[in-house]
Amino acid sequence: MTVEEALQILQDKGYKYTGRRETLIRILDREDRYVTAKDLLEEMQEIYPELSFDTIYRNLGLFHELGIVSMTELAGERRYRMRCNLPEHHHHMICLICGKTREIKACPLDAMWGDPEGFQITDHKFEVYGYCQACIDAGRGEEVFSEQAPVY
Ligand SMILES: [Zn+2]
Ligand SMILES: [Zn+2]
Ligand SMILES: [Zn+2]
Repeated sequence: MTVEEALQILQDKGYKYTGRRETLIRILDREDRYVTAKDLLEEMQEIYPELSFDTIYRNLGLFHELGIVSMTELAGERRYRMRCNLPEHHHHMICLICGKTREIKACPLDAMWGDPEGFQITDHKFEVYGYCQACIDAGRGEEVFSEQAPVY
């Protein structure tokens, strides 16, 4: 999802794109990783000091609904990133430290033989969590291991 595509979606669906919405989309695009609403709020407040958590949440909810952003929950907190561009079906490995993602081309559903009996699959979710090489090389993984809890 590019900034232009995201703005086009908002326009097509009849949502005004305000300067704030556009800025939020640009920040998500620049980050290119999973970030929390709090991270986004802090960045947004540098430009819009009055901005509330509520507004950020509402807009992220809207972006998610419109397919502009992907959402996941890491360590009990929702994180958002710009929807990825790869057209074919795939999954992600997500770094618990920096929030960056890597593609997994294989799908675990392929391991199932056709549709299971007595169940109609409509959707599925598969994510792999861990630490990316850059974070391991920077020694950030060790911090996490020693603290026994993922920090972000
Ligand atoms: Zn992807
Ligand atoms: Zn990382
Ligand atoms: Zn799949």
